[in-house]
Amino acid sequence: MKIMVSACLLGENCKYNGGNNLSKKVLEFIKGHEVISVCPEVMGGLPIPRIPAEIVNGVVTTKDGHNVDKEFRIGAEMALQIAKENQVDLVVLQSRSPSCGLKQIYDGSFSGKRIDGQGIFAKMLIENRFQVVDMEEL
Ligand code: SF4
Repeated sequence: MKIMVSACLLGENCKYNGGNNLSKKVLEFIKGHEVISVCPEVMGGLPIPRIPAEIVNGVVTTKDGHNVDKEFRIGAEMALQIAKENQVDLVVLQSRSPSCGLKQIYDGSFSGKRIDGQGIFAKMLIENRFQVVDMEEL
């Protein structure tokens, strides 16, 4: 099986704070499969580290008020293209990210409050009928 994975789950230091979300559970799950790693935010040209962002009234905005919607959408489109070209069978996504979040995201108030919804990349994957799973559901 070809599995695309949020890069931070594989230990890549591509998170907003320069760290990662390395998951033993994910590493175990992907064993023996072909793995394609993507970080849509970095692919969209955003730096590491970067100011955290949330989706505020439909627009991806950093905590200090900058509109980064274009970067998020460009990166998500690029990652989506890779998923299409490789015809991946499944995408494993990091939870609650404004890009990769599948079940829940933060509500745009930067207060840690969660709401049901998807990040930019997760939403594109669903719209393009990819099989997707939140890493917490593995
Ligand atoms: S955009 Fe996705 S892959 Fe990149 S750091 Fe955020 S959750 Fe991880």
